[in-house]
Amino acid sequence: MADTVEMSTLTGLLDKKMTRQLKTYLDICARCAICKDACHQYVGTGDVRYLPAYRAELIRRIYKKYVDKSGRIMPGLYEGHDPDEDLLDELYEVTYACTGCRRCMYYCPFSIDTQFILSAAKSILLAAGKGNEMLEQLADAAIFKGDNPEMFHDIIVDGFKDIEVDLRTLTGDPTAEIPVDKQGADVLYVALAGAHSILPAAAIFHEAGESWTLSLYEAANYGFFLGDPVRARKIADRFMDEALRLGVKEVVITECGHAYRVAEIFHEAWSGEKHPFKVVHILEKIDDYIKSGRIRVSRAITEPITYHDPCQIGRNGGIFEQPRDIVKAIASDFRDMTPNRQEQWCCGGGGGIVAIDEMNEIRLRSGAKKVEQIRATGAKIVASPCENCRLQMEGLEERHNMGVRIAAVMDLVIEAMDLPGKQPAPA
Ligand code: SF4
Ligand code: SF4
Repeated sequence: MADTVEMSTLTGLLDKKMTRQLKTYLDICARCAICKDACHQYVGTGDVRYLPAYRAELIRRIYKKYVDKSGRIMPGLYEGHDPDEDLLDELYEVTYACTGCRRCMYYCPFSIDTQFILSAAKSILLAAGKGNEMLEQLADAAIFKGDNPEMFHDIIVDGFKDIEVDLRTLTGDPTAEIPVDKQGADVLYVALAGAHSILPAAAIFHEAGESWTLSLYEAANYGFFLGDPVRARKIADRFMDEALRLGVKEVVITECGHAYRVAEIFHEAWSGEKHPFKVVHILEKIDDYIKSGRIRVSRAITEPITYHDPCQIGRNGGIFEQPRDIVKAIASDFRDMTPNRQEQWCCGGGGGIVAIDEMNEIRLRSGAKKVEQIRATGAKIVASPCENCRLQMEGLEERHNMGVRIAAVMDLVIEAMDLPGKQPAPA
């Protein structure tokens, strides 16, 4: 914080972060407030602090006082402000609440990327000792695991063996395997921790006859949510290094929004090297398996179903059609939300906010638009390929009784496949 950390350290950090892109964003905002109607948090709460332009304004005040020449001469006139305790506390609230959905950027006439501005805010908060503690702990735990693989190897592999037993039951094939660290496999599948992320993908890979493997490392990246590119890179390096060592052709990221964006978009920028393999989302693979006939599905799902585009996969990742094509292949009554694709409302669960207890209330209130959208479809199932989105929408279901089942797309694909050990779909 500003009391214990030299003010010059914080302002110097902002100076260092001041790329042409950031400077442009800070200079060109016309304060038109068009972005207010794009942000689910402002719309859900009516609280001006969650207006995208206001969040950026807090950074702009420090910039005007210390970096921009006009502000240094006349900080009062140009709204310059010290990064003092009050400003940093407010900056913390609005920065870690932001889900990074970038819907405000889509609607801003100047395409100002508030999330990008807030990445500079996170650097300042971290330097001031005001990063989010829970995200910091989770990021450090992942890094510790990556630094000490021998400590975790046996327990992780034992867990995979348990899932393998379930895979054999599900597929009816007593030889079905969950390969680990398989040299020369075509695909490294990067899952989240837990059977829910591994078993359906394993069954789909098995049925498709894919050459695949797991490694010891999962996809979640709390360093990214924390806003610390050094930690975020270390966490992503764990599986990217394994992909190189195993010589795979593709890294396939599980149903997770931020992990896909980290692997597909940010990791090459952080490492400064081009990946010698492709990075794809698991739904791109499944869509390809269905269209090429490598797996067979039927339209077994007859209840009305809709699809929620996770911001990091849709608006920020460019994957819109494959998930819809999958849902249309397995269900007879698909109803898209309005608006959708690039204009889809954020559900309110991204950016690591589901891990921050103190923000539960703002998170759930900010889902108001999503509730409205889901209800308008009349759907009984909401499919979405991101765990944070699903957790958030389950919270919204609990609070608003929409009468919907929230489901992973992979689980629905399993429901539509002819597998002998398949469990009946949840009511
Ligand atoms: S829409 Fe863009 S220009 Fe208008 S207030 Fe928001 S960030 Fe500034
Ligand atoms: S990125 Fe999303 S949550 Fe953050 S300010 Fe913009 S619209 Fe709001």
